[in-house]
Amino acid sequence: MNPLTQGATQIVVPMAAAPSDPRAAAAKAAAFAAIEQAFGQEVDFLKTLVRHPSTRGQTNGVQHLVAATLHAMGLRVDEVPVEPERIAGRPGFSPADWPYDGLFQVVGTLPAAGAGGMAATGGRSLILNGHVDVVSPEPVGHWTRDPWAGEVAGGRMYGRGTGDMKAGVGAMIYALKAVQAAGIGLGGDVLVETVLDEECGGNGTLALLAQGYRAGAAVIPEPSGLGLTRAHLGVLWCRIRVRGRAAHAGAASRAVNAVEKAYVVLQAIKTLEAEANRPEARHPLYAAVEHPLNYNVGVIHGGDWPSSVPEACTLEVRFACYPGEALDAVQARLCDGVLRAAAADDWLREHPPELTFFGFRGEGAVYDLDGDLVRAVAASHAQVLGTPLPVGVSTASDDRRFFQLYHGIPAVCYGPIGGQLHAVDEWVDLESLRACTCVLAGVLIDWCGVA
Ligand SMILES: [Zn+2]
Repeated sequence: MNPLTQGATQIVVPMAAAPSDPRAAAAKAAAFAAIEQAFGQEVDFLKTLVRHPSTRGQTNGVQHLVAATLHAMGLRVDEVPVEPERIAGRPGFSPADWPYDGLFQVVGTLPAAGAGGMAATGGRSLILNGHVDVVSPEPVGHWTRDPWAGEVAGGRMYGRGTGDMKAGVGAMIYALKAVQAAGIGLGGDVLVETVLDEECGGNGTLALLAQGYRAGAAVIPEPSGLGLTRAHLGVLWCRIRVRGRAAHAGAASRAVNAVEKAYVVLQAIKTLEAEANRPEARHPLYAAVEHPLNYNVGVIHGGDWPSSVPEACTLEVRFACYPGEALDAVQARLCDGVLRAAAADDWLREHPPELTFFGFRGEGAVYDLDGDLVRAVAASHAQVLGTPLPVGVSTASDDRRFFQLYHGIPAVCYGPIGGQLHAVDEWVDLESLRACTCVLAGVLIDWCGVA
């Protein structure tokens, strides 16, 4: 999911001290030159990633490509299955009702340079994590370009997943490639992870952490617009089944149309959304955001014949909540609100809608701005862009929470500028991809150290 950055302010993030180590400064200059030289290849690589239509369950093709690329770079490559039974009891698990059979994730490991590893260098390890799953491009007929072609025009690449977040995946791989091409030995281990299911709850990243892939910090190049988000929301998915009483359309006045009754539920959701967005109900970090909590009816299924009164209608809704709100309490409040609204309807009082929370179940979170990792990102951003690092909040969610909330691993999202995310004609700005790749290379050098 994309961290839609809102309320961006010029909070001045303290930067790491100017590198006193002249080796680090020289290493960065060499890495930036390597990124410049290989940028055409990086854009081609992104295009190849985009040409894999990696919607949920269809991610193996793009994972094979990433695995081969990391292998060719000399990394140790693990292809790791997701075993839901191993993560089901863990904090942050999303109760998925879809299968993981045969799917795998990729972890490429580049150990610290030199014989003694990190013990000898005193460096720190870093995870670069990106998701390769993308949302559906439907209706494809509304796009002005092929969603799976990666067409370049006007400094942008268009296509599903360009912004969210295959450009970020390309950036993290090409940042490491540039460090290698410049002959820099990093002082810490680097793990390059490409995960699935970020768009539906994050079980991919959770599974890698459960399988023991850990480091001193993690960077996720989601399309943050070359800025940082200091908070993201919690997200809950819910399926709401509404019953009617079927009949021939000729007898519709004596039947109950489930699609029409679903409208009562839809209105209740919008009322609850308005209540949750009241200024006095807001988390302080979201006080200046225009409409922080979006209760989105994303799917509706009802009926199958114009001349039949539908017996059933199902809504699938994405709810959101603030950092610090307990998901169980939010869930209870939403159920209560929908059922109270339904009780005002004669039919729905006797046949209440059934709410099932499924899939995405992620907590909101606030992140510190004063850690070493943020300092390294701010310093690298300032060096590459010549401006202070913008900081805002996200009205979506992202996989940072698994690292920071449940495993104590500092994590940031920092990535390129993208637009039309989850919509038609999604794009990423290619100059921002170049800048992001440089910033990530700088972070690798500053965080891991030069061996
Ligand atoms: Zn994303």
